[in-house]
Amino acid sequence: MKSIAEKTYVATNQGINYKLLTPGPLTTSQTVKEAMLVDHCTWDEDYKRITRKIRQQLLELAEVSAADYTAVLLQGSGSFAVESVLSSVLAPADKLLICANGAYGKRMVKMATRYQIPHVVYEVAENETFEAPVIQKMLQQDPAITALTMVHSETTSGILNPLEEIATLVQTHQLLFIVDAMSSFGGIEIPVAKLGIDYLISSANKCIQGVPGFAFVIARRSALAKSAGNARTVSLDLHEQERVMAIDGKWRFTSPTHTVIAFEQALQELAAEGGISARQQRYQKNNERLYHLMTAAGFERYVKKNQGPFITSFKYPANEKFDFQQFYQYLKANGYAIYPGKVSAVDCFRIGNIGELYPSDMEQVAALIKTYMEELQND
Ligand SMILES: *Cc1c(COP(=O)(O)O)cnc(C)c1O
Repeated sequence: MKSIAEKTYVATNQGINYKLLTPGPLTTSQTVKEAMLVDHCTWDEDYKRITRKIRQQLLELAEVSAADYTAVLLQGSGSFAVESVLSSVLAPADKLLICANGAYGKRMVKMATRYQIPHVVYEVAENETFEAPVIQKMLQQDPAITALTMVHSETTSGILNPLEEIATLVQTHQLLFIVDAMSSFGGIEIPVAKLGIDYLISSANKCIQGVPGFAFVIARRSALAKSAGNARTVSLDLHEQERVMAIDGKWRFTSPTHTVIAFEQALQELAAEGGISARQQRYQKNNERLYHLMTAAGFERYVKKNQGPFITSFKYPANEKFDFQQFYQYLKANGYAIYPGKVSAVDCFRIGNIGELYPSDMEQVAALIKTYMEELQND
């Protein structure tokens, strides 16, 4: 038998070395990955201190005070946190208006239906955005509506919905305001208190550039306090999750320790980059560079108005020989993984530009795409 010292462990990920042009999980820095090479106790003071620090930093990024807001971390992917909010904060008498223009908006409809939460849906096409006058009218016609939820950056298409405009309306009508800012928080400034947001939801593996494993909710304390007892599940009970975490930083149930430490590192790197505004500028540059080069290569964007700076849907090229799977494999073999389309009506593929990515990456991928298309043409 081999002694322990002689045993060799072979990493299972050898040979996989390409960047992700997908909006989460996304390409993280080497240092974020390396931060995970430590096993932490969940109850140790060192670890609890990290949780407390992260919660405080999230409040700062959200431009809210600790007196008025609390940051709740929750195990699972982003959808778990959306489901946590929808299933725990609404009282039986509440009625929710769900604005939907993509898969993530529709997922909220599915959740509301599953929990039998009274709701109405305002749905528009995936390349269009919500109109305040329409919402205004819906609210006037249905005074039972007490809450509104929307996705900020609808990752389905890459469209950026008009958060400020709807926030104004929500404040005028004094509705409970829930925002899925999964793929925008950390990559664009969102003054949560100023916009009157009661619950903002995001996750570790998007614009903060951490790895998957937990999501978080920036919750207004007064709203969360009132929600006690409304939860329809045990594990996703937001109020209870916050109550336990607020004691000393220990998570209710096992926490994703490696993910949390990677997140701590990712937050440091966000600060080192110059904070959200600097990151926003980098993403914007990436996005514009990509758009410019893809347009030059003959591609058309699916979203014409309100394209966001995080991810872009491009229509399939007119060439009949175009095969997404082959295209994908070609790009992957050359260092970049892109994303299949998710919009329902039109054949598209998506290219994300968030994560540890720079304009030079956009140039490289666009050059690969150009070469591929030329070869396809001459085939
Ligand atoms: C990523 C994302 C989610 C959550 O998706 P998960 O796969 O559960 O992490 C929700 N909403 C939006 C807009 C997203 O981009």
